[in-house]
Amino acid sequence: MRLILLGPPGAGKGTQAKRLVERYGVPQLSTGDMLRAAVAAGTPVGLKAKAVMDAGQLVSDEIVIGIIADRIGEEDARKGFILDGFPRTVAQAEALDALLAQKGLKLDAVIELVVDQDGLVNRIINRANESRAKGEPVRADDDPDVFRTRLAAYNRDTAVVAPYYEKKGQLTKVDGNQPIDAVSGALFALLDKVDA
Ligand code: AMP
Repeated sequence: MRLILLGPPGAGKGTQAKRLVERYGVPQLSTGDMLRAAVAAGTPVGLKAKAVMDAGQLVSDEIVIGIIADRIGEEDARKGFILDGFPRTVAQAEALDALLAQKGLKLDAVIELVVDQDGLVNRIINRANESRAKGEPVRADDDPDVFRTRLAAYNRDTAVVAPYYEKKGQLTKVDGNQPIDAVSGALFALLDKVDA
């Protein structure tokens, strides 16, 4: 299965992607996770990306397209993948189309988690509190002010990505305001058909 999960930061893409990994046995490819790993490892990409990520802005298309091009060529992504946090611009979506076409591959689904943005800052504050309570590290960019910048970047650059797929007849919308299990249920109902 090859799937894209779209939606603003804090919509639950990462949480749902993990459940889909378990159910469908394909890897979650999160550009955010890959970039954080690059920052932690101090690689050249990480060194370039760190300040931009800390500020809540988007890393350059060139960098993330390069990361994804490498990653979808790896062995475990051969049977499919769940893209989480990519594409975030139309240029990234076009580059992905070209990459997949080159390999003769097609997307099975593009799903947008549609959420009410007014509640997102509170969601992110809760996510940070839950991580703290579990003794887990809190993402630096889950600070409320940085989060507002991430949301602005989403509305400026990424909100156009869902219509890009909608025009191609590939987009399905799922109500992401529902409780986590209900969102998973809606996703499973859609994707079990694709996976059958
Ligand atoms: P995420 O974990 O998806 O919320 O991503 C965290 C941060 O990584 C974002 O705020 C961006 O700075 C950067 N990032 C992740 N994915 C992308 C992408 N596809 N394009 C540009 N920047 C990205």
